[in-house]
Amino acid sequence: MSMKSLKDLNQAQLEATEYNEGPHLIVAGAGSGKTKVLTHKIAYLIEDGFNPENILSLTFTNKAANEMKERITAMIGVTKAKKLWMGTFHSILARILRTEAESLNYKKNFSIYDREDSVSLVGNVLTALNISIDDKSSSAIQHQISSLKNKMILPEEFAKFHAETPSEKKLAQVYTEYNDRLFENNSMDFDDLLLKPIQLFNNHQRILAKYKKEFKYVLVDEFQDTNKAQYEIIKLFVTGRTKLCVVGDDAQSIYGWRGAELENMLNFEKDFPKVKVFRLEQNYRSTKRILKAAGSVIKNNPGQIEKTLWTENEDGEMLSVLRCTDEKDEAFQISKQIKKEITSKKISLKDITILYRINSQSRALEEALRREKLPYKIIGGVEFYRRKEVKDIVAYLRVLANQNDEESLLRIMNFPQRGIGNTSISKMIAFARKFDLSFYSTMARIFEVIEVKERIQKNVKQFKILLDKYIDLQSKLSLTELTSALIDDLGVLKMYKEENTVESRQRYDNVQELINSIADFSKQNKGATIDDFLSDVSLFSGIDSYENDDNFITLMTIHSSKGLEFPVVFITGCEEDIFPLNKKFDSDSQVEEERRLFYVAVTRAERKVILSYARSRYRFGEVAYQDVSRFIGEIDPETIKELNNGVRKSSSRRRRAYYDELYQEDFDEFDQERRSLRVGSRVSHEKFGEGKILAINGVGDSQKISIAFEEFGTKHLLTKFAKLTLI
Ligand code: ATP
Ligand code: MG
Repeated sequence: MSMKSLKDLNQAQLEATEYNEGPHLIVAGAGSGKTKVLTHKIAYLIEDGFNPENILSLTFTNKAANEMKERITAMIGVTKAKKLWMGTFHSILARILRTEAESLNYKKNFSIYDREDSVSLVGNVLTALNISIDDKSSSAIQHQISSLKNKMILPEEFAKFHAETPSEKKLAQVYTEYNDRLFENNSMDFDDLLLKPIQLFNNHQRILAKYKKEFKYVLVDEFQDTNKAQYEIIKLFVTGRTKLCVVGDDAQSIYGWRGAELENMLNFEKDFPKVKVFRLEQNYRSTKRILKAAGSVIKNNPGQIEKTLWTENEDGEMLSVLRCTDEKDEAFQISKQIKKEITSKKISLKDITILYRINSQSRALEEALRREKLPYKIIGGVEFYRRKEVKDIVAYLRVLANQNDEESLLRIMNFPQRGIGNTSISKMIAFARKFDLSFYSTMARIFEVIEVKERIQKNVKQFKILLDKYIDLQSKLSLTELTSALIDDLGVLKMYKEENTVESRQRYDNVQELINSIADFSKQNKGATIDDFLSDVSLFSGIDSYENDDNFITLMTIHSSKGLEFPVVFITGCEEDIFPLNKKFDSDSQVEEERRLFYVAVTRAERKVILSYARSRYRFGEVAYQDVSRFIGEIDPETIKELNNGVRKSSSRRRRAYYDELYQEDFDEFDQERRSLRVGSRVSHEKFGEGKILAINGVGDSQKISIAFEEFGTKHLLTKFAKLTLI
């Protein structure tokens, strides 16, 4: 018991930490030390003589992995900690795929396409096949393809067994072509990082055996959010002798939309018959009130795994509700509260997080914080590596590493401008397809593509010479030198400087920052190659950049806040149609997922929760009147008070009615007209012209109406403002 790793654990945690027999599951509520147990278990194993190279630990974000690594390093030292296999599913599997690429007929230097790349590839496929599917955007189709991949349904299978309607048949065609193009580009999308390993292991028992032997202990955090493919991979790695420890909380499963299967958690005991289940019941994070409030909401979800959660922490303050007129007022009132918190109590900015359901909510918040001179950092948003100017340079690096990466090549063909327009590019693509060449080889034979004008042929040739020069320099220069020289050669910094707009100055800074980040990466990963850097970039997500040391308020979506904790938590936009996000999520199970998300939000807090809602909000280019979120109504009234308007204690239904009353205003003059609107009626609108009513939702002032306009597509409007005339 003298081991560092067993210090400060309670009895239940200690038992779970020391248990090292068969597969075991730790299922427990928020803040009960699940992640802590995982960390200590790993340290304990290593102290006990277990080889760190034989431990595979899977987390949900790179940030979580790094944090764990730091804690373990503190307990057992850097030499051993470094040898652990620790990271997200995606990063660990990308590493394995690079090693084993050849067995999949891929080259080691394959590119990893992020969502944006995939969407653009889908767009190119739609153009090439000259089809459209029910007017769906490339992004919607990419989403469909991604869900199929998450369910492990490959194109052949989809075409054969699932494609019945004409739209599905077209989807099958797009999906097939999309996958073929990926392969020809020597590229994988995010979903492939999970799917390909399964194929690899199923087809090459020898390779699987190698990793099975390597991973003697497998540990998984946030198990409730693993999808089917991830679970499959865990099952592949685990044989009779492998130790398996998974940790999760079914009440915090929030990635259903991304194919996570809560079922995995519920089935675990069936799949691994001798599983031992541990429960942790003491919460160390939050006050009694916060736990009670969170519990009163989540209990409205049926089918939860039975759990108790209690804490020795103090009762704490009441949760509070801020009622606001609109999103600007909400942002203003929040800044006011923050100022009050930091002056009256000993709270610093880094102790505060502002959470929102959807990214677009952040804009009003940011504006107010800037005006009030409150430093903040936004996590997620338009992430650094997703910015156009950064992606442009990264696309160059990808092409240097992998000349088959046609998406990246197309991206930079005319960046910076070199007079190679889309028409010429299309002609080159046609040539490439006709002679079954890669686009890059087509560039080498540009003078044979006689449809392309001579002047442009010369530009292509010049471009090819430039690329070849840097492909050759790769082996002679460090990654930082290579990138700097390339950026110099392209003249992009000079270009941004000359443009001299607010935007171009920002781009200038970002390109500089990219060079810094490459230098930094090379310093931290001695001997790393361009492929390693590119893997890192593709797998980087906003949350990873999150640093806790600086004194900033943190803004992020609730999804990004998983596993984190803050003394003070603001939960904004507690309105129907935002939280829960009804429009998209209208089945019971989807509302339940929203409720779990609400539970996650509340349980991030240590001492204080402030919920806010606005009675009107600018959305989809229209002012929408909002109803207060049902979740606020579900909170135990004894734990919550209104901040800016004393509210009587009442049952949740009365409370809800009370809030609804606050919204009520007189718009009687519109009522007459509203009553005659029906689904199917044809109407005319001042701005959008004529259209047909698709749906009418709600009653009174918050009633919304969806109309398919002939020229402007489908719009969702507030009936009372829409000024419609029946035709
Ligand atoms: P979540 O469900 O949100 O991921 P979790 O169950 O993983 O939460 P942890 O993040 O591991 O919980 O722990 C929550 C907080 O409680 C942390 O600050 C942790 O250091 C603290 N904690 C956990 N166990 C103990 C303990 N035995 N003694 C003191 N503090 C503890
Ligand atoms: Mg955790």
